[in-house]
Amino acid sequence: MGRSIFEPEHEQVRRTTREFLDREALPHLERWTEQGHVDREIFCRAGEIGLLGMDVPTEYGGAGMDDYRYNVVVSEECARGGSGVGLTLQNDLIAPYIKSLGTEGQKKRFLTGITSGELLGCIAMSEPGAGSDLAGIRTSARRDGDDWVLNGSKTFISGGILADFAIVVTRTDAEAGHKGFTLFLVEDGMPGFAKGKKLDKIGNRASDTAELFFDNVRVPDANRLGEIGGGFYALMRNLPQERLGIAIIGLIAAERALEITMQYAKERTAFGQPIGQFQVNRHALSEMHTKLTIARVYIDHAIMAVTRGELSAQEAAGAKWWMSELEWEVVDRCMQMFGGYGYINEYEIAAIWRNSRVQRVYGGTTEILKDLVGRGLGF
Ligand SMILES: Cc1cc2nc3c(=O)[nH]c(=O)nc-3n(C[C@H](O)[C@H](O)[C@H](O)COP(=O)(O)OP(=O)(O)OC[C@H]3O[C@@H](n4cnc5c(N)ncnc54)[C@H](O)[C@@H]3O)c2cc1C
Repeated sequence: MGRSIFEPEHEQVRRTTREFLDREALPHLERWTEQGHVDREIFCRAGEIGLLGMDVPTEYGGAGMDDYRYNVVVSEECARGGSGVGLTLQNDLIAPYIKSLGTEGQKKRFLTGITSGELLGCIAMSEPGAGSDLAGIRTSARRDGDDWVLNGSKTFISGGILADFAIVVTRTDAEAGHKGFTLFLVEDGMPGFAKGKKLDKIGNRASDTAELFFDNVRVPDANRLGEIGGGFYALMRNLPQERLGIAIIGLIAAERALEITMQYAKERTAFGQPIGQFQVNRHALSEMHTKLTIARVYIDHAIMAVTRGELSAQEAAGAKWWMSELEWEVVDRCMQMFGGYGYINEYEIAAIWRNSRVQRVYGGTTEILKDLVGRGLGF
């Protein structure tokens, strides 16, 4: 079934992205997986050909194309090849915060850096003691003259090792509930800001995940991102797009798993016939195909809702939990059809399986998101 949400211009960006990744990323994937992060230069190369910040205004180096579908095609291509290049993190998570909250000076500096690939950001919400329950964040920021003094730590931060700056969620008023959180742009090299070891993950091993530590880090007020006390609300505004982004990646991964499994089911024989011909496998393939066709309609519908600026927090939460659960169901079923070969790392299905598992966890666990949807229903 063809997709109807893209115009020829989007497909052109898709082709450019695919060619770029085939040429510049996939040949290095094995080495990146071993070293635990991609090469820094890949972002500058992506910036040169315009794959970063397409929706960022031209005065900050973007393409000024305020159309979410350009971000989607870049993200889908990054996911399809499993390249580990975090263009999506910069395009869909970091740039939107600065675009929507930044001062002119912050936009000039950080957005221009992101679009050229010279600056990389990460978003630091989770802490050792606060993941699902963001209200439990303890990293504090205390005003001191023109500066703020930050103390605390963050964990599981995607891209944290390579990042030049972190958008850090802090507590500026312990008594103010949801109004007590403020965001800061904390830069590499600020005294007291340290990065821990790269976390050793099951999957997505070419993209780094870090711990961050703040020990009396002095951050100028000019690096405050948004209003004092506005941090929690900024997260709530940005999380829907982040969550849909995870669902989009999940569907691409599941589609790819099914594609290679169908091929394998034609080639691999047992008891004198291709394994796909056994009724149990034919039904499994049929079920997965139908479910992913339905998912495609649903996810494309949500993409268009973001494009029109209409995706609600509940819809995004629903898309994220449902799609990541379906992704896992499909990818695991596909792996089963590969028999023992599915467990061997040189088979693509093994990488897809390892990378898929976290989708049900980050960006809000399935349990938390079901709760969010349920509350939206009035329960
Ligand atoms: C690879 C990776 C990358 C990540 N990237 C980032 C990043 O870039 N930035 C960032 O800030 N964070 C990031 N995270 C953190 C991620 O968002 C959290 O791990 C996630 O939100 C869950 O928090 P937690 O790990 O503390 O689990 P917990 O909150 O401790 O939850 C543990 C379990 O309890 C369940 N649970 C908790 N509360 C409830 C409840 N009320 N009802 C029912 N069940 C509940 C959860 O669903 C889960 O199953 C990343 C995590 C990983 C693994």
